[in-house]
Amino acid sequence: MSIEQALAAIRARIAKAEIAAGRPPGSVSLLAVSKTREVADLRAALAAGQHRFGESYVQEALDKIAALAEEDIEWHFIGPLQSNKSRQVAEHFHWCHSVDRLKLARRLSAQRPAGLPPLQVCLQVNISGEASKSGFAPAAVCAAAAEIASLPNLVLRGLMAIPARERDFHRQRAAFARLRELRDALNAERDLSLDTLSMGMTGDLEAAIAEGATLVRVGTGIFGSRTGD
Ligand SMILES: *Cc1c(COP(=O)(O)O)cnc(C)c1O
Repeated sequence: MSIEQALAAIRARIAKAEIAAGRPPGSVSLLAVSKTREVADLRAALAAGQHRFGESYVQEALDKIAALAEEDIEWHFIGPLQSNKSRQVAEHFHWCHSVDRLKLARRLSAQRPAGLPPLQVCLQVNISGEASKSGFAPAAVCAAAAEIASLPNLVLRGLMAIPARERDFHRQRAAFARLRELRDALNAERDLSLDTLSMGMTGDLEAAIAEGATLVRVGTGIFGSRTGD
């Protein structure tokens, strides 16, 4: 399958899931996760109308951002971010989904260049409580969100999670439901207006959309399997 055909198939899955959930068409946006892919693959997706790309490795992403500087692309950083690389994300990306500690949020805000609009951020939540995954513990998100929302050069848009892999649709839904409930509680109790739930990947996007995902992050479904995964 070509990248163009694969994109069409993913868009069809999203549209079907929106209808199944009784949600308006177009309410879920698609982030093409292009980590480890060649610039030519991103160009193929661009030619097929895809303008939002997600990257996980800073140096690799900077090379692509430079190579595609003339294109109309919204760049999202979605990988674990070491503090010593926060400046590059603050300077070159539109979004960061993987804010998992206060210190990182403060650095991103301080390092966001004055001439750019604020960086759009999501707080990553370790929703399945896995020792191997980064993210705020659900119980810690509330306090962090209040402070992060007040940082001058960030806009706190919502929450992101990578739940433990499950094959069963209902189990997939249960983890996504917890993230949605957390977002709703933040909005109600902290007077925030978080509009983004970044959740759902190639294997579980239907369950995420059923629970209110506003942005799904899809890699292999568009570009094929990654070597080394
Ligand atoms: C790699 C990655 C994805 C894409 O996963 P696929 O299963 O290839 O769709 C989504 N989100 C994050 C944070 C990732 O690192």
